[in-house]
Amino acid sequence: MELRAALALRSGGVCEIQQEGCQGRAVEPCHRIKTGMGGVHGAAIAESDRLSNCVHGCRWCGRWQHDHEPMAKAYGQILSRSADPLKEPILLRYGVVFLDDEGGWELCPPATAREIREAQRRREATNEDLGYGLADVG
Ligand SMILES: [Zn+2]
Repeated sequence: MELRAALALRSGGVCEIQQEGCQGRAVEPCHRIKTGMGGVHGAAIAESDRLSNCVHGCRWCGRWQHDHEPMAKAYGQILSRSADPLKEPILLRYGVVFLDDEGGWELCPPATAREIREAQRRREATNEDLGYGLADVG
């Protein structure tokens, strides 16, 4: 299914981010792992367009993410390139959830979110390039 159609099914056409000032109507896919200046090509497109890596946002909230990157990162809405979107909780209008690649999501228990966050901080404090996934830490 095309990405926009799949996202619209999950969001119901309503912005999933809902920051203050939200315009309500979801219009664009916001990628959690940013593609950078050159964009993505070939097989990387499918990887980038996984539903777990995409959020359906309104224009305002899409802009908000860019203007408030540290906050958007803390919310799991923007991820580092090495992150696995399936394993990173994200704060959306549903609450703190794990997104899947089938167009669904599952609530993340607060304790789990905290543990993941702490593991992340430890990892960043020691060495970002160790290549650990969250599965190894948890
Ligand atoms: Zn919005």
